Amino acid sequence: MPLRFYNTLTRREEEFVPLEPGKVGMYTCGPTVYAPPHIGNMRTFFFSDLLRRYLEFRGYEVKFVMNLTDVDDKTIRGALRDGVSLNEYTEPFIDDLFHNFDQLGIRRADVHPRATHYVPQMIDIIRRLQERGLAYEAEGSVYFDISEFPAYGQLSKVDVSAGRRGERVAADEYDREDVRDFVLWKAAKPEDEQVGAVWDTQWGPGRPGWHIECSAMSMQELGESFDLHVGGVDLVFPHHEDEIAQSEGATGKPFVKYWLHGEFLLLEGDKMAKSTGNIFNLQDLVERGVKPSSVRYLYLTAHYRSKLNFTFEGLAASAEAVRRLRGTRNRLREHPAARDPDPADTPTLHTAVDEALAAFTAAMDEDLNTSVALAALHRLAGAANARLEELGARPISHAEQAAALAAFERMDAVFGFIGLADGESQVDEGLATWVEERIAARQAARKSRDFATADAIRDEIAARGVVVEDTPMGARWSLAS
Ligand code: AMP
Ligand code: ZN
Repeated sequence: MPLRFYNTLTRREEEFVPLEPGKVGMYTCGPTVYAPPHIGNMRTFFFSDLLRRYLEFRGYEVKFVMNLTDVDDKTIRGALRDGVSLNEYTEPFIDDLFHNFDQLGIRRADVHPRATHYVPQMIDIIRRLQERGLAYEAEGSVYFDISEFPAYGQLSKVDVSAGRRGERVAADEYDREDVRDFVLWKAAKPEDEQVGAVWDTQWGPGRPGWHIECSAMSMQELGESFDLHVGGVDLVFPHHEDEIAQSEGATGKPFVKYWLHGEFLLLEGDKMAKSTGNIFNLQDLVERGVKPSSVRYLYLTAHYRSKLNFTFEGLAASAEAVRRLRGTRNRLREHPAARDPDPADTPTLHTAVDEALAAFTAAMDEDLNTSVALAALHRLAGAANARLEELGARPISHAEQAAALAAFERMDAVFGFIGLADGESQVDEGLATWVEERIAARQAARKSRDFATADAIRDEIAARGVVVEDTPMGARWSLAS
């Protein structure tokens, strides 16, 4: 069975055939390091890590690159507000990002290029675009001329005819209604000087636009053509459309073979986004006793191209599933094994192991169908539980035990939640479940205007050392310090 991915470029599921047999180059648009990442951002980074892990499971040698956007409109605004240099401003967010990665078991990429270290490569691409008549200068800035690039719109299918010819957009982020010549290089403004975000060029002092950054970093690290480009769905337009225009415009070669986009994590039905404050950080959750493995499991329950609604009920169910699977794996590992088992005993787990691995692979091959792949792991756990029960105090055959444990390991090399060290939780899991349940009961009491009961529940929660705070996004709680 071939490995297949849904390619946003063709809007079809396609067999994955890398440019070079056995090797894969993949690039993920990393975060803009201007705020702590929320678990919505993490869903996208988790997805790219999952993809990389599965490609490795399938035997590919993967070079995985994830950039850090450390210069753009948002980072400059933040540095200016805090009165620090751009570097001083972004550094703590980079540390925080990697801390989040470690907690969630998101492996580091092979390279995490920072935009500020690749400015000469960006300038070089812009220069080539100008030579090819695809870019023009205006008041010290340089713009991409979309009317000179007929393939513009191939990824996002935007209506280019609606674009106003010769009109320009200088902001890093803009909408589909704004199909216009976009900025490659921005003439320096006083605020750029103030935070040290200025480079000298043939067009005068300035700084890169956001889109050119990813063209430069990806091509420098992976070559002018590479296999996979990943990001959240919000990046299809304009960011990825512009990346294609810049890269293919400069090189005349196809930029990326497969474009994969992950859907959003929602909170109460709305997109989780920094701009609206409708967010949870991993730290918020850990402070409530949530284990990172539950978050990982929750991500796996939905297909990456489906929206996933974040709820505490969903997290609790995930925690329970992780607990059960870990329990089975541990019991299997600790069961006494014999090299010469009872000849009257028939080892039955080998079949379950083969079936589970085949079902896991078939599901993941089908555009990373994680929920079906998880079901395969649960079936193996069910078979292992039944087998251990059947054996009772009798030893299991060494080969059977090793095969089953190896299957757990292989699947978890992709899933990554069984072996994840959840760290020292500050809150007891039982307490967390109890508080969530009490908050829900308090909500229900308020809804039926039974304020006496609602207040009584609040006191009951406070008596256990927990502070509840009502926010527009619902109740949040933490341990009283
Ligand atoms: P940013 O740091 O805002 O540049 O976002 C980094 C990545 O997170 C991008 O690929 C976004 O598409 C992705 N992202 C932002 N919000 C969400 C969300 N609610 N769910 C999933 N991915 C998201
Ligand atoms: Zn990017």
